[in-house]
Amino acid sequence: MDTNNMDAVIIGQGPAGCSAALYLCRAGLRVAVVGKDSGALHRAEKIENYYGLPQPLSGQALVEVGRSQCRTLGAELREDEVLALDWLEDGRFAARLATGQTLAATTALLATGKAKAAPAIAGIQALEGHGVSYCAVCDAFLYRGKSVAVLGNGAYARHELEELLPLAGRVTLLTHGAEPEFAPPEGVTVLRRPVARLQGEEQLQSVTLEDGETLALDGLFVALGSASAGDLANKLGLRLEQNAIPVNAKQETALPGLFAAGDCTGSFAQVALAVAEGAKAALAMIPYIRAQK
Ligand SMILES: Cc1cc2nc3c(=O)[nH]c(=O)nc-3n(C[C@H](O)[C@H](O)[C@H](O)COP(=O)(O)OP(=O)(O)OC[C@H]3O[C@@H](n4cnc5c(N)ncnc54)[C@H](O)[C@@H]3O)c2cc1C
Repeated sequence: MDTNNMDAVIIGQGPAGCSAALYLCRAGLRVAVVGKDSGALHRAEKIENYYGLPQPLSGQALVEVGRSQCRTLGAELREDEVLALDWLEDGRFAARLATGQTLAATTALLATGKAKAAPAIAGIQALEGHGVSYCAVCDAFLYRGKSVAVLGNGAYARHELEELLPLAGRVTLLTHGAEPEFAPPEGVTVLRRPVARLQGEEQLQSVTLEDGETLALDGLFVALGSASAGDLANKLGLRLEQNAIPVNAKQETALPGLFAAGDCTGSFAQVALAVAEGAKAALAMIPYIRAQK
């Protein structure tokens, strides 16, 4: 499949993403569905309130059924992590994957599940927008020559480091007690001890680690875990509402061609609702894609 010319790239292989893929595939469209794991259902021991199940199914088994149905209908399933979603000059979208590939498509669907909560570190929320950022590509230029840190240890943290390195002065990776999952780029200092608190009156001044060591900082970029729908949307200039992606009744976001469905829109967390939002999104994506051809 030509990964530079898809009709839809879906970020999320849960009920919302897979439900959308089924409709898009049946409309004869080229669809890639990217997922890094089994999402919320991985933790659901037993699902018995979803329509049509003769017996309760484990959440994991339900995910497998959804994926296999998508594959059978012709969707291209990728086990990968999306690090960034770019809006291209020609109005298409390009999903950058942790494995280094890029998938370009006419439309994109955010279906990454429940929004991430802010990390429980004292002072972090009070300093959001005052030195604490969730978007390196948006804010890196504010920290030209300054001292910054990225909080995280995975591929998404690496991606944020790469955005900051050409501009910032001193760059530190704070892994918050975890081992880094990548070889830190040259010029990056790695501190593995957990972060205890942030200091600063009107602007971030420093972070203190659990053992009491204090590091002077101008900017802290939060990149724990993987990019959420909120992180991806934020980078495209979309405003979030209570950490969820605002959508209209057709699951359209404020950006033409970008849709969102499932738990990431802030809807009540239920499989049936995620499936319904995925279907609604696809039914709006189909005419949008056809109009671009
Ligand atoms: C313990 C538990 C029990 C539950 N029990 C029930 C129940 O009994 N009945 C019910 O109806 N609902 C239940 N739910 C809720 C239900 O699981 C969710 O509402 C539903 O899974 C939401 O679907 P979704 O597609 O929006 O997101 P998810 O199912 O969370 O899927 C998100 C997808 O996005 C992918 N993803 C996220 N970020 C990235 C990235 N950066 N790159 C690539 N992929 C990414 C994930 O890998 C995953 O594939 C339960 C939830 C939990 C946690």
